[in-house]
Parts: sequence; C-alpha cells; structure tokens
Amino acid sequence: MKANCWMGRNTVEVREVPDPRILNSRDAIVRVTSTAICGSDLHLYDGYIPTMKKGDILGHEFMGEVVEVGPKVSTLRVGDRVVVPFPIACGNCVACTHGLYSVCENSNPNAGLAEKLMGHSPAGIFGYSHMLGGYPGGQAEYARVPFADVGPIKIENGLTDEQVLFLSDILPTGWMGAEMCDIKPGDVIAVWGAGPVGQFAIASAFLMGAEKVISIDRFPYRLKRAERAGAQTLNYEEVDVLDALRDITAGRGPDGCIDAVGMEAHHPAGVVHAYDRVKQATRMETERPHALREAIMSCRNGGTVSVIGVYGGLLDKFPMGSLMNRSLTLRSGQCHVQRYLKPLLKKIRNGDIDPSSVVSHRMRLEDAPRGYEMFKNKENECNKIVLTP
Ligand code: NAD
Ligand code: ZN
Ligand code: ZN
Repeated sequence: MKANCWMGRNTVEVREVPDPRILNSRDAIVRVTSTAICGSDLHLYDGYIPTMKKGDILGHEFMGEVVEVGPKVSTLRVGDRVVVPFPIACGNCVACTHGLYSVCENSNPNAGLAEKLMGHSPAGIFGYSHMLGGYPGGQAEYARVPFADVGPIKIENGLTDEQVLFLSDILPTGWMGAEMCDIKPGDVIAVWGAGPVGQFAIASAFLMGAEKVISIDRFPYRLKRAERAGAQTLNYEEVDVLDALRDITAGRGPDGCIDAVGMEAHHPAGVVHAYDRVKQATRMETERPHALREAIMSCRNGGTVSVIGVYGGLLDKFPMGSLMNRSLTLRSGQCHVQRYLKPLLKKIRNGDIDPSSVVSHRMRLEDAPRGYEMFKNKENECNKIVLTP
C-alpha cells in the first residue's frame, strides 16, 4: 500500500510499504477513506519529538471502512464505517475505566522509553514516535487499529467524511480544552492559537456558555475564522497581549486561558524568539513555550490555564511564581477522545457544530509532502488539509 512516511526533519515521502495485518485478536484493519494533517504532525515534521525513525508511517486523524476484524472484535463488522480516535486505549485498565484514555496503561509497548523522559508512560498514539508505541499511522491506504472493540465509533451513512473525521482528534481536543476551564455563564475565555484546534476550542467555549472568547494569533486569515465564530481577536504582532487582555477584562484577566499553540510558539520580539530557538536547537530546552507563559501571566487570579497544545519535554522560564502565588489551576492532557465521541457525534448530527468548516484544502495522499510544507508555512491561507488515499 501507499503511506506517508517520516524520512527525517522537514521531509516526508509517500512510499510503497507492506499492507498491515491483524496481529492481535482485538485488532481491525481499516481502509482509510479520509485522513488529515494535524498541528501535532508538525512537531514531528520539524524534528522536535524524539524517537522517530526513518520510514515511520505518520498520521493519527483518520477514518474509513473496516475490511478485516480479529476474532475478539464483536462490536465491528467488515463494511462498517468508522472514525478512529488518535489515542490507543484498552478500555479495561485503571486509566481507561476512569475515562483517561490518553494515558491508558496497556497500549504503549515501549513504555520504558517514555518513562525515562516523563516518569510514567502515557498511552500509545498512532504515528507518533516509538516512545509512544511505534504504531504505524493513518496517512496511508490501510491502518491496523488495536483494541478495535474500544476506540472506533461507527458512523451511519448520511454524514460526510469531512463532517465526522475530526472526531478522531481536533474536535474533542478543542472541546476538552474548553471543558477543563469549567466555564460558567459570564466567563471570559482567551485562546492562544487560532489554528483548527483553537477554532474548535472557541466554538466549544461558546457552547458551554462563555460570554466572551478572545482569540490570539498573528495570521489575519485565521483570526477572521475566529471572528466568524464570534470571538474577539488580538493580533499579537500588533498589540501587547497582556495589556489588551487586561483592558478587555476590567483589569482582572480572563477566567480561563487555553493554550492551543504548544511547543513551537512564535514570539513577536525577535530576542525572546531567538532565545527559545537557540535553547531548543541546542537541546537545552525542548520547547518554545511563549504562548504558555503568556497564558499563565494573563489569567485572572484563581483562574484556570488549560493546556491542549502539545509539549514534548522540558522548558525554560516557566512562570511558576505567577501560577502558585495567584492560585491558578493548570490542567492539561492529550485528549481522552473516546470519552467525547458519542456526545460530539450527537452535536454534529443536531447541527450544533459543523466540523467540516475548518477544511481549507483537499489533496490526494500522494501530495502529502506539498501539504506538510503548505500547512507548516501557513501558505495559501492553509487551515486544515484532508488527504484522500
Ligand atoms: P496549527 O499549527 O494549525 O496552529 C497553531 C497556531 O498557533 C498557528 O495559527 C500559529 O500562528 C499560532 N501561534 C504560534 N505562536 C503563537 C503565539 N505566541 N501566540 C498565539 N498564537 C500563536 O496547529 P493546530 O492543528 O491548531 O494544533 C495546535 C496545537 O494543538 C499543537 O500544539 C498540536 O500539537 C496540539 N494538539 C493537541 C492535541 C491534544 O490532544 N492535546 C490534539 C491535537 C492537537
Ligand atoms: Zn492531531
Ligand atoms: Zn487502558
């Protein structure tokens, strides 16, 4: 089959690779009908997530048709149409039974690698390094789905791929980002990053009753999307974000601050950006956490900072004093996607939310290399790319 493979920093290549096979009794094989490129893939593309190997198949946002099931998968049949959540979860361990699917205790066969860096291992993730399981991803014609009796959600006909594909990741992720802010009526929520994840966090915050949502980014075409969703926007290249947020909130700061940027934040002042870039390049810190620093500093006393942007390792100049002295709550996580599949599918069906609106480009799987380049550089007003094998 054809698959999009990581070949080193800034290089992906669509190659011929062996078809996946059932390895365990709870596996299914899915023929991928749609898959997408995520901001998380850019962290791999840019070379910031350790333990990638040349030839690894990328992709953790995918859906398709079940073409084969293992003997212990009684919930799915050949021919079923499914969306597959990006964290791989067994459904039976302590974490899974508490709904903490992205930290499943049974799905990372390379847990030891992750433990060295993080103390304990999170769940395995499709196409996301050997430290997180070394699972081949879904930017391919076919994918093997472990624990297929737990993760995939069946989709009835009548909904298009683009309406439901983002249940695999970014829609639940944006939702969880807002949920972690415990939004109450009247709350003001600020969202760093107006990418697809930020856009879904904005939509979710409004659905949860936020009175005002402020979206922060520097790309006008993305801020326009946020504005269309009802957010007030700040271009951090034009205003001082801390000052602007103070002005908007009568001096207090937003009740909830969502980091939907992650480890490759950009900084408008060359010096700070260069500082983080140099430290990151020399591996003295693995992240450029500018948005996170700003989210903490701007949050109102007693407020919540919700981190859905992905981080990989260690960071520098983390404003712990601000967090501690001002009674902030810090919440975070890879999304526990499985938890949100049914309720969010219902919202899509009801028309409360239309995830397909984030799609800006549709391409063939073969064009993945051009897609990665375009999405990375935010060329051609690129917002979200769907690839079809
Ligand atoms: P994206 O690259 O499309 O968007 C990121 C946006 O952040 C860009 O528009 C960029 O201009 C903006 N940005 C950069 N520096 C900034 C700053 N200092 N202040 C404000 N905005 C800034 O990516 P995406 O697909 O929207 O993903 C966003 C983040 O969410 C990534 O880190 C991704 O890895 C993460 N993510 C996490 C989960 C999870 O489960 N927690 C799931 C999916 C994605
Ligand atoms: Zn993703
Ligand atoms: Zn589990």
